[in-house]
Amino acid sequence: MEIKVIPAKPEQLKKKPADESKLGFGDIFTDHMFLMDYEKGKGWMNPRIEPYKNLSLDPAAMVLHYGQEVFEGLKAYRGKDGSLYLFRPRDNFVRMNRSALRVCMPEVDPDFGMAALKKLILLDKDWIPKSKGTSLYIRPTMIAVEPHLGVRPARTYLFYIIIGPVGAYYKEGLNPVKIYVEDQYVRAALGGLGEAKTVANYAASLLAAEEAKEKGFTQVLWLDAKERKFVEEVGTMNMFFVIGDEVITAPLTGSILPGITRDSVIRIVRKWGKKMSERSLSIDEVIEAARRGTLKEAFGTGTAAVISPVGQITYKGSDYTVAGGKMGDLSLNLYNEIVAIQYGEKEDPYGWREEIR
Ligand SMILES: *Cc1c(COP(=O)(O)O)cnc(C)c1O
Repeated sequence: MEIKVIPAKPEQLKKKPADESKLGFGDIFTDHMFLMDYEKGKGWMNPRIEPYKNLSLDPAAMVLHYGQEVFEGLKAYRGKDGSLYLFRPRDNFVRMNRSALRVCMPEVDPDFGMAALKKLILLDKDWIPKSKGTSLYIRPTMIAVEPHLGVRPARTYLFYIIIGPVGAYYKEGLNPVKIYVEDQYVRAALGGLGEAKTVANYAASLLAAEEAKEKGFTQVLWLDAKERKFVEEVGTMNMFFVIGDEVITAPLTGSILPGITRDSVIRIVRKWGKKMSERSLSIDEVIEAARRGTLKEAFGTGTAAVISPVGQITYKGSDYTVAGGKMGDLSLNLYNEIVAIQYGEKEDPYGWREEIR
C-alpha cells in the first residue's frame, strides 16, 4: 500500500515549543498524523499522512460505547550526532496486535506499521527535541468507528499514529517514589483484559490512583484480583524487587501488561549474571524482606520513565523504607544502560536500537 502524504500548508504549521527544558508529557503534538481505515471483508485501506487535526466521529461510533480501542506507547530518540533511533519498535506493533485480538479488533502488519511510523517521524523530525532525556513520544491507536448501538465487534476501524515531543522524565535526578499497596480495588483479573493495552484497564485504575494521590502517594501497587496477595504492577509500569541477591518480577500470567522495558530489564539482568526470577511474589514476602533489611531495591519499569525507583512502600497503614529512600545501584545501572542504548551512546548487543533514516 502506498502512503499518501498531504503536507500541512505553511499556515497550518504549528509553533514548536521554544524551551525544551519546560517540555512536559502528552500535551504537544506535531504537524502531522498517520491514519488508515479498515472495513471488514476489505482490510486496511487509504493509508495517509495528513496535517494533525480533530477526528470526525459519529456519536454512535462503537469505541465510545463499548470501548473497542487499543494503543501503544514508544519513543524516538535523538542521539548526540543528530541520528534518530527507535527502541524495539516491532515489539510494540506485535503487542498491539495481541491487544487487538483480545478485544476482537483487526491486526496491522508490523512492517507496514513501522514503515508508516518512520515516514511520519521523518516528515516531522524537526520536532524531535535535542536535549538529554527528551524524546518524541509515539502513540499508535486503533478505534472502532462503525456507528452502531448493540454489543458486538465493529465492522469498521480507524488506525492512527500521533507523535509529540516530551520532556526528560526526571528533572531533578531519579527521585524515588512512594507507593501505596492497593488491597481494595483491583486492576485486572486472570482471564480479563490485563495483558492488553486497551482503554478499560486505565479507566479501572483511575479511582484507586486518585485516592492514593490524595494520601500523598505517587502510584498504587496492584495486587492480584483473587487473593489480594501477589504483587502485580505499579500504575502503568511493571514492578521489580531485589530481595537478597534475587531480582524478582511477576510472571506473565495474563493479568499484567507484558512491558517491553520489563523484558529488556530481565535480559540485561541475566546478561549481567544476576539471579533473575519471573515468579509469584507475595506482598507478605516483600514486607517481611523490608522488615529484615533484605529488600535491597524496588523499581517500576516502563517506556516513559525507563526505571522508576521506589523509596517507600505503604501497606495496611505501615510505611516501609526501601534502599534508604534512595535509588539503588541496580536501578541506576539499569537506567544508564538502557538510556545509553536508546540514545546511541553505547553498543547495542541486543539489537534493540533501530536507526530511522
Ligand atoms: C505500557 C504499560 C507498561 C509498560 O510497558 P512498556 O512496554 O515497558 O512501556 C506496564 N504496565 C502497564 C499497565 C502499561 O500500560
